[in-house]
Amino acid sequence: MVKTILDNFCVKSGVLCPKCEEKVVKGQVSKLDLDIIQLLCEVEKDYPSIQEVTFNKAVEVENFLAILVNKADMAKILSQGGKIIKEISARTNKRVRILTYGGDERQFLEDLLSPFSILTINTIWLPDDSTETKAILYGRTPKRVPVHFDIIRRLAKEIRGMTLRIEFEKN
Ligand SMILES: [Zn+2]
Repeated sequence: MVKTILDNFCVKSGVLCPKCEEKVVKGQVSKLDLDIIQLLCEVEKDYPSIQEVTFNKAVEVENFLAILVNKADMAKILSQGGKIIKEISARTNKRVRILTYGGDERQFLEDLLSPFSILTINTIWLPDDSTETKAILYGRTPKRVPVHFDIIRRLAKEIRGMTLRIEFEKN
């Protein structure tokens, strides 16, 4: 069964014990996390490869759903030719992105910006001492910049507190 910080028994029964309930109250597990954990438990019946996956967090921005799992589990959830992602997508009616939990900045941005490839990542210091992360992507700026870049930027903010700027190598 998908691993979480909640007891398997509590997840299965849908009735949380006081210890698990406390994690929800403290905000370690959100309502969305609970929904996605339940959903993954359904999906794993058809796709046993995700039974060993450790779920960390889910974040939603508009029609995008990011699911953060351990680095070692990325392959398990991305296997089956993307069928698992499609299944989660169909059940949630969201575009699904699987991200590495707790990895370094580059790993995070590569997962987030896929299928675009990153040329360089720069940190820009602003006068107020805050920073902005600028990801420069390979190639020319597309005629129409993907609409979802705005959502990607909001996900970066939500997940890592990162102010992200996305640019292309050539204008
Ligand atoms: Zn419990």
